[in-house]
Amino acid sequence: MPGPSELGDSPRYAVIGDPVAHSLSPRIFRWLAQNTPFSGAYEMWHVPKENLSLAVDALRDGTFLGLSVTLPHKEAVMGLVDAVDPEARRLGAVNCLARAEGGRVMGFNTDGVGFVRALDTQGASLLNARVLVLGAGGAARAAVGAAVFARASEVQVANRSLDRARALARDFGASVHAIASTSEALQRALAQCEVLVNATSVGLNDAAACPLPEDVCLSATATVLDMVYRPLRTRLLLRAEAAGARTVDGLWMLIHQALEQLRLWTGFEGDALLATRLHAHLCEELP
Ligand code: NAP
Repeated sequence: MPGPSELGDSPRYAVIGDPVAHSLSPRIFRWLAQNTPFSGAYEMWHVPKENLSLAVDALRDGTFLGLSVTLPHKEAVMGLVDAVDPEARRLGAVNCLARAEGGRVMGFNTDGVGFVRALDTQGASLLNARVLVLGAGGAARAAVGAAVFARASEVQVANRSLDRARALARDFGASVHAIASTSEALQRALAQCEVLVNATSVGLNDAAACPLPEDVCLSATATVLDMVYRPLRTRLLLRAEAAGARTVDGLWMLIHQALEQLRLWTGFEGDALLATRLHAHLCEELP
């Protein structure tokens, strides 16, 4: 457990994970504390898996009022809380804990909301859209689930391990299909899709890596969202830009999921202008 807050009696919040030092959440919430009515102290708390229940207890006893949850705890924490929001249950992961009346700990998933709002505020709607999601891990699950809830007409999932893509598709019903991760299959899917999402970790800390084979062509009519935000302009986004497509970087999703966490904790609703100011601030700070 971290020591006493440096900010005296301010309500305490934290991001928990293992590792956690890379998280941008403290920078986001510090900025929000300076630019919104949010008056909390937001900390970073390194929590290995054997200490996860201690973190949940720190919410129950009121030491913290809210926790952001990052890897590798998003699934395990579901078994430790008092109630899981239905959307988080459907997505199979919790990334936000909030303390409710009587010390009950509630689990939410804000990645799906963050994904939808990131697209929406950049002018791309999922309603009736055909969507291609690259990846089949936790982030892909959030994107696929959110696209289905937002009534996308079809969602195709391509993943290095096809079995994992098939399992993900099965969980979300008839509008979701797994496809092979070959250039031919991806090109066919891209020819029809309006929204392409990279939910793999390809490109993370590697400006030359791209989740889409180099022989696959992007079209000007698609919107391309890359969840990777280090680097901010990934190889995929640069290729999409060159093809004339609309691009949405991963910071937008990160920001909108954080604003949803703030809403769950405090009731404060951030708007698109606030998100844009925060995005500009983080772009200045990031290498
Ligand atoms: P994860 O559960 O570990 O899934 C990783 C995915 O990447 C899997 O589909 C994996 O394929 C694929 N992959 C990894 N290395 C690959 C390679 N060399 N070639 C092809 N595919 C590869 O991770 P996650 O939690 O879903 O996160 C995925 C990415 O999204 C991360 O970069 C994370 O930082 C980012 N993210 C961003 C936000 C945001 O707000 N912007 C939110 C959540 C996550 P296999 O199944 O075949 O292993």
